[in-house]
Amino acid sequence: MLTGRGVVGVQRAEDETPLGGIDIPERGRVAGVTPTVPMTPEQALLRVIHCLDRVHETGFKTKAFVRALDVVRNTDPVELAERARDERLTELDGIGGSTAAVITEALAGVMPAYLSKIEHETVVPITDAGRVYQQALRGDCHLHSTWSDGGAPIESMAATAIELGHEYMVLTDHSPRLTIAHGLDEERLARQLDEIDRLNADIAASGHDFRILTGMEVDINEDGSLDLADALLAKLDIVVASVHSKLRMERQQMTERMVMAVASPHVDILGHCTGRMIGKRPESTFDADYVFAACAQFDTAVEINCRPERLDPPRELIDLAIQYGCWFSIDTDAHATGQLEWQPLGCDRAAEREVPLERVINTMSADDLLAWAAA
Ligand SMILES: [Zn+2]
Ligand SMILES: [Zn+2]
Repeated sequence: MLTGRGVVGVQRAEDETPLGGIDIPERGRVAGVTPTVPMTPEQALLRVIHCLDRVHETGFKTKAFVRALDVVRNTDPVELAERARDERLTELDGIGGSTAAVITEALAGVMPAYLSKIEHETVVPITDAGRVYQQALRGDCHLHSTWSDGGAPIESMAATAIELGHEYMVLTDHSPRLTIAHGLDEERLARQLDEIDRLNADIAASGHDFRILTGMEVDINEDGSLDLADALLAKLDIVVASVHSKLRMERQQMTERMVMAVASPHVDILGHCTGRMIGKRPESTFDADYVFAACAQFDTAVEINCRPERLDPPRELIDLAIQYGCWFSIDTDAHATGQLEWQPLGCDRAAEREVPLERVINTMSADDLLAWAAA
């Protein structure tokens, strides 16, 4: 949940998102898309941040580049060019030696040395066995945007997903109760659905065979009910249900809570089921036999969450879910464009435990996935 807060771009209210803002054909105009020279300083900085995000670098380096991006966006381009020419960029508050070098090289029309270095260093590795799964995946069913606690606007996430070869992505921002993550209430959800309509029209007009599917990562309340009215959940293409509160609940209560959510006809995927944060937070305790039996019975997919700090469920629970004949969904839970590149982590895990590929829902086409969800 919150630890994964992305950092790409500057937080921006959805009202400011430019209409028709998706700009796929001209590469590099949005975060995450690989720019080619010549590139603007903004494109270069965005790509640096994307690369740092995909290795989950959340420290001072990323913060420095996010800060520099903000300065570049708020500085007159003529002034920026003059300062680069006179080597006075570092006089600007928020620009240091390494960020100045990237800006200067981009303005000179060459590939910034630092960018070309980290382009190579930050590639997410994958095993041969994992690659079989990755190549079968057609989309990502769990990811966030600036509408909740993500760091990149919807169009940047979509542009990156397109570049990764996806045919669809399901936008699953948080539900209202998670106020700290800026969860969407009914009114904001309605506006987000309108925005997705507009973006999908733009994507189609630009000739890409790609769709943004609607969704939500809805909180599973303590009593097993869901944090959004059924009538609203029914409008969404795909719903991920996750436990984000009272993770230390007593075993039987937690089991009942999860089974109730899994049994909801509106829930398609059970998100990061144990809630663990590797090395930081233990797994929640629940009777996995009951929960996975319910997942199998109600056709609710068990998410294989790819976030490196989660990698949830752990191995033995994946094995158990396979035994119960569950569906699976290999999702990044990305909160930044770079994190959309995390599917290899879940694919390697799925390959290791020999998850049946035909039970992985995001190997389906968008139409088949929608039909599966509606069944
Ligand atoms: Zn979550
Ligand atoms: Zn999430």
